[in-house]
Amino acid sequence: MESLRMIVDLAKCVGCFNCLMACKDEHVGNAWLPYTDSQQKHAQNWIEPLRHERGKVPYTDLCYVTRLCRHCDDAPCEKAFPAVVQKRGDGIVLLDAEAAKGKAELVAACPHGMISWNEELRTAQKCTMCAHLLDEGLPEPRCVQACPLRALSIIKCTDAVFAEITENQGLLPLDDGPGKPRVLYKNLYRYTSNFIAGALCFMEDGIEKAAAGAKLRLFAGGVPLKETEADFLGEFKFDGIPRNTGVFRIDCSLSGFKPREIELSVGGESVCLAPLCLERRQN
Ligand code: SF4
Ligand code: SF4
Repeated sequence: MESLRMIVDLAKCVGCFNCLMACKDEHVGNAWLPYTDSQQKHAQNWIEPLRHERGKVPYTDLCYVTRLCRHCDDAPCEKAFPAVVQKRGDGIVLLDAEAAKGKAELVAACPHGMISWNEELRTAQKCTMCAHLLDEGLPEPRCVQACPLRALSIIKCTDAVFAEITENQGLLPLDDGPGKPRVLYKNLYRYTSNFIAGALCFMEDGIEKAAAGAKLRLFAGGVPLKETEADFLGEFKFDGIPRNTGVFRIDCSLSGFKPREIELSVGGESVCLAPLCLERRQN
């Protein structure tokens, strides 16, 4: 049987906030009953891209992590409030709009903070996956349709097909939290891991030049992990390094220059190395 999933690609999102605005456009001032009452204009966001920065100048990386209800298969909110939360056959998790009225305690039932309180209507609410539109035959929720870079996508397929897509695209849940989410993330390393960046140079006629094309190999405990090449500015980057993983070594080599080793340790932050100057070999 086919069901719905959403994929959020961190490498494509540029933080335009079109998803948030589209959700507002669809739901503020519009009650799509029996699916949901209208959303508050300012006090709630059912979807939100959160800015995440790594590194420091000159080696920085900025991404946006879009958060919304995960439409969990083993939803903690459903376990806590089975009379209010409905899991549909297509995977969408809905709050019963009538039953959710006056139940502020529903907000705490989502461990991911995705249920919010509508003070104007005194009701608990969350993303509906735009079920009112999908049930009308539209192919996508409003936020997905509004994303100009297709950083959000929705897929309807069997569990077996989605398992293959998950494997092929390296999809991951946002965290290890409970619930078996139906919203999975691509390129999540930009949120969960660190990078090591730096630059290699050499001196020629008193001028500092970029060591473009230098080969760099990253080791941990003597085991080779990754390889890269310095770009035309002599800069290099190893990304996807798990946080707090300890001591690494980088071997640097460039034809005509003495090889160099860099020892470093990776803690909770990305590592930005000072430029390293290579020495010419003596003939
Ligand atoms: S993310 Fe939260 S509100 Fe959404 S289904 Fe999971 S537990 Fe429920
Ligand atoms: S699927 Fe619909 S309700 Fe959910 S965040 Fe997107 S626009 Fe809002």
